[in-house]
Amino acid sequence: MFDKLSDRLGGVFDKLRGRGALKEEDVRAAMREVRIALLEADVALPVVREFVEKVTEKAVGQAVLKSVTPGQQVVKIVNDGLTEMLGSEVSELDLAVAPPAIIMMVGLQGSGKTTTTAKIAKRLKDKDNKKVLMASLDVNRPAAQEQLAVLGEQIDAATLPIVEGQQPVEIAKRALQASKLQGFDVLMLDTAGRLHVDQQLMDEMKAVADVATPQEILLVVDSLTGQDAVNVAKNFSEQVDLSGVVLTRMDGDARGGAALSMRSVTGKPIKFVGVGEKIDALEEFHPERVAGRILGMGDVVSLVEKAAQVVDKEESEALAERMAKGQFDMNDLRSQLRQMTKMGGLGALANMMPGMKKAKAAMAGGAMDDKILLRMDAIIGSMTREERVRPGLLNAKRKRRVAMGSGTTVQDVNKLLKMHQEMSKAMKRIKKMGGIKGLMSMFG
Ligand code: GDP
Repeated sequence: MFDKLSDRLGGVFDKLRGRGALKEEDVRAAMREVRIALLEADVALPVVREFVEKVTEKAVGQAVLKSVTPGQQVVKIVNDGLTEMLGSEVSELDLAVAPPAIIMMVGLQGSGKTTTTAKIAKRLKDKDNKKVLMASLDVNRPAAQEQLAVLGEQIDAATLPIVEGQQPVEIAKRALQASKLQGFDVLMLDTAGRLHVDQQLMDEMKAVADVATPQEILLVVDSLTGQDAVNVAKNFSEQVDLSGVVLTRMDGDARGGAALSMRSVTGKPIKFVGVGEKIDALEEFHPERVAGRILGMGDVVSLVEKAAQVVDKEESEALAERMAKGQFDMNDLRSQLRQMTKMGGLGALANMMPGMKKAKAAMAGGAMDDKILLRMDAIIGSMTREERVRPGLLNAKRKRRVAMGSGTTVQDVNKLLKMHQEMSKAMKRIKKMGGIKGLMSMFG
């Protein structure tokens, strides 16, 4: 559903990626386009404004000064902004109470409330092994209670027997009693919807919430309705204490605005998304994954976070062992450099590694792009085995030979040696900080 937004943002970042250094005006120009892209995706205006402001501030302050691959860094900043906009963390259902835990479902008619009730019940049953009772309190829509009963049979979950003429609050009380007596872990209350938000609906909802005191009040909204969905959510959240939102029809071609604005406008997390009519078409909502999907740049974005995982584990362990003995020779440096190359680009990571900033400053122009990594690799490649283990052997004559062999200059060789020294020092510091584990924990 985020295809169009994703395309547009991709275009913006493509332009940035070619830049060696990022100027403030480049960031501002990019952010103007990001702004348009978000508005076109139907994201609420105040949300867009705040987002663009925050991201610009961060990107201008950071990328210009420090970044080696500024485009990537901006992508990362935008990604973090999107993740925050989407709610940062996965919000799970909070059912940690003495059973029965009560989940009350609210929303407008046709939003997918009844279907979602059954979807969540199935999930609780299958994934969490919960014994679930569902009860429909919808006495307005003809056959609403029957619909839930049919779904209950389909997923093999119990539904509260229908008693003609009973009103929602009474049904809620009966459901509560039944779930206690019959030992259900979870009671799901599917409340009535209306075509529009009206006072009668809100009053009924509040009365039910008063007798049921639910742990979760989930609002179901149709993502296809875009900004309307957000307004509906805002209305509801002002009237009852919602614990979260379920966005349905995310399998449709909604532009994404509802998903992107929901958190900021209502302050409530999206807990699930409906992705189809089938009863198992329900997914947890993972803000970072969604942000990554929107940017279509999962790789770039996770570069920094995933660094620790990408680094070859065996090699890291071997290195850790050697470090513990206080060893860090040219072979180690080379394997470090190669891992960096593998991770691609690497500006951001280099900034995070202890000692790397200094080492970087020691290199040509302070910039460390892939070319420099390759050049350093070539220099080490031209050293003899002894020289790699004992770099101290490299006198002026040997340096000249290595420079010739690698197509570089003695100056470059010296810079590499300086970098090796800085890194050795850093490694010693790391050792003091608790070894490689300490380093890894810095990557988050
Ligand atoms: P309610 O009036 O809010 O209880 O809505 P229903 O649960 O009866 O759903 C209305 C229609 O939307 C039904 O045809 C559902 O199959 C459909 N529906 C619900 N959730 C989704 C979803 O995530 N994706 C799609 N494509 N259809 C859905």
